[in-house]
Amino acid sequence: MGRFTDKCVVITGGNKGIGYAMAERFVAEGANVVIASVEDQVLEAAKSLGSSAKGFVCDVTNKAQVADLYDFAANLFGGIDVSVQNAGIITIAKVEDLTEREWDATMEVNTKGVFLCCQEAIGHMRASGKGGRLINTASGQARDGFIYTPHYAASKFGVMGLTQSLAKEVALENITVNAICPGIIKTDMWAYNDKVWGEMLGDFGPGELMESWVQTNIPMKRAGEGSDVAGLVAFLASEDATYITGQTINVDGGLIMS
Ligand code: NDP
Repeated sequence: MGRFTDKCVVITGGNKGIGYAMAERFVAEGANVVIASVEDQVLEAAKSLGSSAKGFVCDVTNKAQVADLYDFAANLFGGIDVSVQNAGIITIAKVEDLTEREWDATMEVNTKGVFLCCQEAIGHMRASGKGGRLINTASGQARDGFIYTPHYAASKFGVMGLTQSLAKEVALENITVNAICPGIIKTDMWAYNDKVWGEMLGDFGPGELMESWVQTNIPMKRAGEGSDVAGLVAFLASEDATYITGQTINVDGGLIMS
């Protein structure tokens, strides 16, 4: 018996990177998991997790698709116990080059998408009367905005704010809402960051910027793995975290200590 046996866990952005690592962790601990992302590779990714995982194609910026995602998961697995709002995007640009479209797309996915998923998940949790856990993926950029990403930093500060507000609204309903701030985690997103920031900030070859930031700024002197983030999320979803809500927790090897 795992900590999450017979629980239903929804994870957006679950087909790869940090979200996939979370899905692996919940499956290993007995959960039924629905992973969602835009591309239909999510269906294959779910198969690779085994029979207790299902994939669902969903754009988190589309309210109707988000409603379908939570209905699908609840009908399949008997309600929603845990919902992890993890889908996110980033672009990097100097202020004069940052387009209005980039700003809007980033806010739509990273902030509105998190809200729409929380809204649906809370609706299901309230209807069941069983409570539940919401975990929102913010970023170290919800603590400290990095250069050339004002839109991303704003979107992730937004995640922290909506987490606190929702946590207060549902606190008496046995629903907790928390956010997490990963630091430098080895995924496709960080490969993009390394390339683009590396070109903009100096003459860095592939991987060199990340390594330089790790060595200079991370006391533990290593980049994170998806599994490092998954461990925190599993804790926040577990019975050990019953009295924790409205918090934003760093998982970054000590990169940011506030
Ligand atoms: P990846 O780029 O590897 O994965 C992003 C995921 O988000 C993909 O599954 C992608 O789906 C999904 N996604 C993007 N847009 C949408 C959308 N509109 N609807 C549904 N799904 C969508 O990134 P990471 O795993 O690195 O990042 C996961 C989260 O962690 C993000 O919120 C990111 O901001 C955050 N984060 C990451 C850090 C890092 O160092 N890697 C640091 C701090 C925060 P698809 O593949 O189908 O496009």
